[in-house]
Amino acid sequence: MELIGKHIIVTGSSRGIGRSIVRACVEHGASVYCVSRNEMDIVSEYTPLCAQGASIKFYPCDVSDESAVKTTFESILKDAPHIDGLVNNAGIAKDGFIFRMPVEAWNSVIDTNLKSCFLTTRAIAMPMAKKRAGSIVNISSIVGVIGNAGQSNYCAAKAGIIGLTKSLARELGGRGLRVNAIAPGFIETDMTEALSEDHRKTFIKSIPLARPGSSEEVAKTCVFLLSSYASYITGETIRVSGGLGV
Ligand code: NAP
Repeated sequence: MELIGKHIIVTGSSRGIGRSIVRACVEHGASVYCVSRNEMDIVSEYTPLCAQGASIKFYPCDVSDESAVKTTFESILKDAPHIDGLVNNAGIAKDGFIFRMPVEAWNSVIDTNLKSCFLTTRAIAMPMAKKRAGSIVNISSIVGVIGNAGQSNYCAAKAGIIGLTKSLARELGGRGLRVNAIAPGFIETDMTEALSEDHRKTFIKSIPLARPGSSEEVAKTCVFLLSSYASYITGETIRVSGGLGV
C-alpha cells in the first residue's frame, strides 16, 4: 500500500496501460481521478471496482483541447482535497511514411501525446507545488529514444516528452515536485494490436527478453515513481522495454 491517502490523476485511463495504472494505484491505496474521452468506457470499466470500495472518479475530456483540460482540472481540484500525482498516459499513434503523412496526422499525434502533457501539468503544477510534494509521471516510449521508421510524428512527440520531463524536473524540483518519464517498449494493448504480424515478429526479435511486455509491468514502474521509494529520483526516463533499445 505505497500510495495510501494519495490523490492521483491518470489520463488515458479507459484501457491498456492507463487501465493497469489506475488499478495498480487503487491496489496501493490511492484515490484516482480518471481522464479520457469516452465516458461510457471508463464508467463501465471501473463501476465494479467502485462497488468494492475503490475511490475512482471519471472526467470525460480530450486532453489535447486547452479549454477542456482547464475545465476538467478545475472540476478535479473541486472534488479532490489535494493532488499528489499526475500520470500523463493518454496517447495515440497515426503512423505513415513522411511522404504520405497528412498534416492532420502530425498535428493530432503531437497534440494528444505532447501538448496534452504541457496543458495538464500547467493546470495542476501550482496546486501541487503548494503542498511542496508530488510526482508527475509522463508516459513516453522507447521509440522516443531510438526513433522508428514510419512513426516520425509519434517519435517526435515521445522524444518531446523526455525533453519536457527533464526541463520540468529542473523547473519544479525546488517546489518539491518530481517529474519523470517511462519509456515502454512493445506492450500488448489495443495500440499494438493494430501492428501487422510481420511488424510484430520483427519487434519481438529485437527484444533481449524475447517477449512483449504487459501493461501491468509498466504500471508497477509507475507506482514506484509515484511512491516515496522514488523520493530522490527526478528528470529520469525509465525504460520498461525488456531491453529493447539498450
Ligand atoms: P491504448 O490502449 O490505445 O489507450 C489509449 C488511452 O488514451 C485510452 O484510454 C484513450 O481513451 C486515451 N486517449 C486517447 N486520446 C485521448 C485524448 N485526446 N484525450 C484523452 N484521452 C485520450 O494505448 P496504450 O497502448 O495503453 O498506450 C498508453 C500510453 O503508452 C500512450 O501514451 C502510448 O503512446 C504509450 N506507449 C504504448 C506502448 C505500447 O506498446 N502499447 C509503447 C510505448 C508507449 P479514449 O479513446 O476514451 O479517449
